[in-house]
Amino acid sequence: MMKLIEEVLVPAGHGRAFRVPRGALLEIVDVEGQQVADFISIREDNRTEWLSATHTRSTTLRLNLGVGDRLQTNWRRDIYEVIQDDVGMHDLITSMCDARRYRLDYGVEDHRSCRSNFLEALKPWGYEEWQIPDVINIFQNAPIRADRTFGNEIPTSKPGDKFVMRALLDGLVAAISACPQDLNPCNGFHPSPILARIVQDHASKPEEG
Ligand SMILES: [Zn+2]
Repeated sequence: MMKLIEEVLVPAGHGRAFRVPRGALLEIVDVEGQQVADFISIREDNRTEWLSATHTRSTTLRLNLGVGDRLQTNWRRDIYEVIQDDVGMHDLITSMCDARRYRLDYGVEDHRSCRSNFLEALKPWGYEEWQIPDVINIFQNAPIRADRTFGNEIPTSKPGDKFVMRALLDGLVAAISACPQDLNPCNGFHPSPILARIVQDHASKPEEG
């Protein structure tokens, strides 16, 4: 039996943070399509452990995510398991956008960024900018080429496409930035909202965290 715990609409170009209980499902929905959801997760009860893109790559030995993958913390523990993936193209390489990126690469001051979105969203948890961990870019289309360079293209996600994970640890806070990048193809040149649904799945037997 599934029970909706919380629904969080992340407005286009903004960020939100929320708790995900162990065993619950986190559904990340690309509402309008072609939108990247920058994703980070931290442990509320232990500030030294967080979702790590590096450790996830090193464990799965792939530069994409798919059903059955177990995302890793910096302490090499399973933090989320991928349950459903409607898109099949995600990015574990590219850093999140920040004010410096818009200033240095595009000459734009005061552009919203994923980094400032996470800082705003994690304010209730007292996070400083330097504590924001590395990101996983759900729905980002960064194809790997034969010469090991990688691209940055319009996402293939369609309206309503979902990426669903199960939380495997206690005390998790997740944060999503509906990436505000409108100056390159990564959000189809049109930033749009992301919907997060936290669902209790009573059929599940969460592992010990
Ligand atoms: Zn961004």
